[in-house]
Amino acid sequence: AFDMLIVGGGPAGAAAAVYAARKGIRTGLVAERFGGQVNDTLDIDNYISVPHTEGPQFSSALLQHVREYEVDVMNLQRARALRPAAAPGGLIEVELENGGVLKARSVVLSTGARWRNMGVPGEDEYRTKGVAYCPSCDGPLYKGKRVAVIGGGNSGIEAAIDLAGVVAHVTVLEFMPELKADAVLQKKLKSLPNVDVILNAQTTEVLGEGGKVNALAWKDRISGVQQRLEVEGVFVQIGLLPNTDWLKGTVELSHTGEIMVDARGQTNVPGVFAAGDCTTVAFKQIVIAAGAGATAALAAFDHLIRAGA
Ligand code: FAD
Repeated sequence: AFDMLIVGGGPAGAAAAVYAARKGIRTGLVAERFGGQVNDTLDIDNYISVPHTEGPQFSSALLQHVREYEVDVMNLQRARALRPAAAPGGLIEVELENGGVLKARSVVLSTGARWRNMGVPGEDEYRTKGVAYCPSCDGPLYKGKRVAVIGGGNSGIEAAIDLAGVVAHVTVLEFMPELKADAVLQKKLKSLPNVDVILNAQTTEVLGEGGKVNALAWKDRISGVQQRLEVEGVFVQIGLLPNTDWLKGTVELSHTGEIMVDARGQTNVPGVFAAGDCTTVAFKQIVIAAGAGATAALAAFDHLIRAGA
């Protein structure tokens, strides 16, 4: 059995593995795809002390760092069930999609999240070529350009406010007849000179030329008329989905499916900790996920020494 088993190999899981292994305990890491979301990221300019790197490069640096230690890395394996210990201090089980069962005295869940997609033509084709999901990550790439924000909930309106300070013009497209964001955010949005809001707007296609986005096609849901909006960027803000479906009924989740954690990364299940984008942590960023992974591993180690393992 492992002393600490980490499920997920993004920045949170990699940090947890390094912290665990440095304690000299038996550490395992199981990941569906080592590296996580950073594999799909073009530029990373906000990991402190690394002014610039690229996603795949950052991902291989994560793996290289983990490999410096004795960590049993099981890549391309997906976990499908978690079984809490039968008795206090007993073994926790993680069942894999391939039927295998891993046992551990403590577990760190770091399965991350994924952006909800619009599912329209052009979205996949122009991902990272004009279609973006993270304003604080990719906003500066659109300096002086026109962008659309899809979604008028809190994340959409926060994105629009954030982007308005960087880009030339922002158009918010909301599917429903009204914005869903908090009133204070809507008020702030209305005070900005370079933002328009279109309601009842259904995005139908992302259009481009020469491998880059140049417009968005949308349909007015009242008149049914098809419209075209000239933009260089499209920020999709219709939700971040935590990869926690497999934990339903075992670990306490928020109404949006995020694992409920305290300041030490502790979940409601003894010996089970969590870190990064799959949790209720306030912001979803690499540096934050890495810090949370370190926190969860240290808290799990603390649990182990108290449990006398
Ligand atoms: P993830 O990176 O999501 O990793 C989750 C891991 O868990 C993966 O290994 C995955 O395969 C695995 N996993 C999931 N389910 C299972 C399962 N059932 N069993 C086993 N393994 C599983 N942040 C920044 O700070 N700067 C940026 O510039 C930036 N740009 C971004 C650009 C894009 C396009 C995207 C999508 C995100 C960007 N982010 C950026 C956000 C950042 O990538 C995330 O905050 C960060 O990766 C979260 O780390 P994590 O370890 O919590 O989760």
